[in-house]
Parts: sequence; C-alpha cells; structure tokens
Amino acid sequence: MKKIVILGSTGSIGTQTLDIVSKNEDLQVVGISAGQNISMLEEQIRLFQPRLAAVGDEEKAKELRERVRDTNCRVVGGMEGLLELAVMEEAEILVTAIVGMIGIRPTMEAIKAGKDIALANKETLVTAGHLIMPLAKEYGVEILPVDSEHSAIFQCLNGEKEKTIDKLLITASGGPFRGRKRADLENIQVEDALKHPNWAMGQKITIDSATLVNKGLEVMEAKWLFGVDLDHIQVVVQPQSVIHSMIQFTDGSIMAQLGTPDMRLPIQYALYRGARRYLDGERLDFAALGSITFENPDMETFKGLPLAIEAAKRGGSMPTVFNAANEKAVALFLQRKIQFLDIYTIIEEAMENHQVISNPAVEDILKIEQDVYDRIESRW
Ligand code: NDP
Repeated sequence: MKKIVILGSTGSIGTQTLDIVSKNEDLQVVGISAGQNISMLEEQIRLFQPRLAAVGDEEKAKELRERVRDTNCRVVGGMEGLLELAVMEEAEILVTAIVGMIGIRPTMEAIKAGKDIALANKETLVTAGHLIMPLAKEYGVEILPVDSEHSAIFQCLNGEKEKTIDKLLITASGGPFRGRKRADLENIQVEDALKHPNWAMGQKITIDSATLVNKGLEVMEAKWLFGVDLDHIQVVVQPQSVIHSMIQFTDGSIMAQLGTPDMRLPIQYALYRGARRYLDGERLDFAALGSITFENPDMETFKGLPLAIEAAKRGGSMPTVFNAANEKAVALFLQRKIQFLDIYTIIEEAMENHQVISNPAVEDILKIEQDVYDRIESRW
C-alpha cells in the first residue's frame, strides 16, 4: 500500500489526486489539508478516512475538530499543522497541491523526513529551487513533477540521459487572450480572465495563464527540475494543448508527450514514480483534431513571460520578488481592486525596487515576500 499526504486536497489538483486514489486500491491517503474549505474537508475525511487533517485557518480548524469528533481523524491548524502533516511517519509521498510560497517550509521538512515529493506547487521551486533541489539530493528523495509540461519532459526523458538534452520546448496554450494586443486588454473583467480555453484549474493559476506569468514560472521550474540553463529553454505556443511539452536532444531528435488535457495523467504518473497504469478518460482522436498549430509567444503584449525570464536571469532573490508581486497582484485583481494590466505594472515596480540577494535562505525569502506584499498594499 502506497500512503500519501496531500497539501491542498480541496483544490483543483487535490481533488483530482483524490480521484486517482479512489480508483487505485493500492493507494491510501493518510493526511489531507485545506486553507478554509472545511465542508469539503469534512466530506473527504468521511470518505477517505485519513488519520490527520490540517486547516490553514485556526478558527476553521477548531470548527472542523468538533464536526469530525466521531471519526478517527485528528485535526490540526496553521503552519504547525501543515508541518506535522508533511512529515507523517507512515507517508511515502507528499503531494504539494497548495498555492503559493506557503508550500516552501512543509516541502523542505518532508524532504528532510525522506518523503518523495509529487510537486504541483511550482511557486516553491521558483523561489527556493536553490535550496530544495540540493536538499532532495542530500536526502535521496525524488521530486516528481505534476505540472503537465514538466511531467511531459519527465516522460520524454524516460530512458534518456539529461546530459543529451539540447533544448526543452515548453508548450503554452497562449491563454484566453491569445491574439489580442495590449489595448484590447485594458478592460478585461475577472470572469473573462477565468475562462481558460483548455484546462479547468484553480483561480490563481488560471489568471497566471492569461498573463503568461504561469509560463514564466514554468520556465523557472524547468530550470531547477532538469538542471537546464535558461538559454536552452524555449516556449512554443500550441493552442490546442495537445502536446504537453517536448525535448530536443543533441542529435536533433525531438521527443514529445501528447494527450488530452487531463491533469489526472501527470498526477498518476508522479504517484507511481513513472510507472504506467490504466487511466479512464478521453483518448486523443487525431482525425477529429485535424491539426496541431504552433506560434511564438507574444512577449510584447503578455509581459508575464519576459518579466519572469528577466527575474530568472537576475537570479537570487529576484524570482521571489517576481512571484510575491504576482501573487499579491492576482489577489487584488480577483478582488476587482486593480485592472488586468496593473498586474504587469505591479510586478515591474516590485522588481525595479529590489536589490538582489544571492542565495537567500528560507527566512530571507519569507521576509522578502512580506516586504513585497506590504509595499504593494501601501501603494495600491
Ligand atoms: P486551488 O486554488 O484549486 O487549490 C489550492 C489548495 O490549497 C486548496 O485545497 C486550498 O484550500 C489549499 N490552501 C490554500 N491556502 C492554504 C493554507 N494556508 N493551508 C492549507 N491549505 C491551503 O489551486 P490549484 O489546485 O489550481 O493549484 C495548486 C498548485 O498546483 C499551484 O501551485 C498551481 O500553480 C499548481 N498547478 C495547478 C494545475 C491545475 O491544473 N490546477 C496545473 C499545474 C500546476 P481551500 O480550498 O480551503 O482554499
């Protein structure tokens, strides 16, 4: 029996992970968590019978504790709760399906406790990849990518040597506003930005897909996961989201992974550490699809990608500033306090006002995150 813990079990990746668990008798969930949504967490506790559940909000944790008194599940709260969940003794794999930098500490503690990480929470690698990758090596644990693009690369690498990679070709749908110009984006409403053409995802990543910030975060994530320089990573827009990413090898050969857009595939592939298992769902019908098209990303209009590349090139603490500014800006946009294009202005301003610290420790990263948040709050 493979025992797993899910950070963020009530979200898009979390619920799809539970779907995989419910269809595989050799998988068992021993720990789950949510930020606020205790109604869904209660349902999950009753259905999956984990031993431990963590709730980000302490008050909600108290309420859930009362509600599930009749079960064998213990409820813990806050960051301490997340950390306890991350190191549960019986667990083999931690699925990091939480949003934002809050995932850094639990991920690092899980690695130190010898757990493999099925990593969806890309913000963790973007900001603390320089700490997480060496730590995983030191403790001999695997970082198994859940993001579809990185899973595609992981799948293409099966049987290949990382040394023979010439270029990673990360595909992008282009988001809901592909083809539009800056002037067309001035009056974008939250509802428009939340309509992703191909994928149903959590709100934050859906907005990140519309700004192309998500693609920028993925470039940084790929750099850490596969040890490839930024100059050897290229973003290719492939609007049908059928090719999930590709590798060009040193002999010019290109391997691609294709499939219908279904996050359960990369989740299952990570949980089984690269072993293939049956998965229900739609299969690709090439004749019905007709064509697969390609184009370059529009870096003039969708500044999320070039700003991310600049942050990655400047390195050290700059990706943290990029990421924190984006997290805050997306939250403000979702609260309808700023316009869509203000997201780029907020990120640019934050980056301009930052002096890079090389090799930031976790405490530095979390302090920079707070400083960036405070600055944006006082200004916007
Ligand atoms: P969602 O917003 O759908 O879910 C986030 C989860 O994190 C929820 O369970 C939420 O709980 C929980 N959470 C939030 N704050 C806390 C906290 N303080 N303590 C404990 N749990 C908390 O996000 P997604 O599933 O879309 O994304 C998760 C991560 O995976 C992100 O980093 C994203 O970039 C990445 N990813 C997502 C993909 C997708 O298809 N969705 C694809 C590839 C990567 P609550 O429900 O209570 O708010």
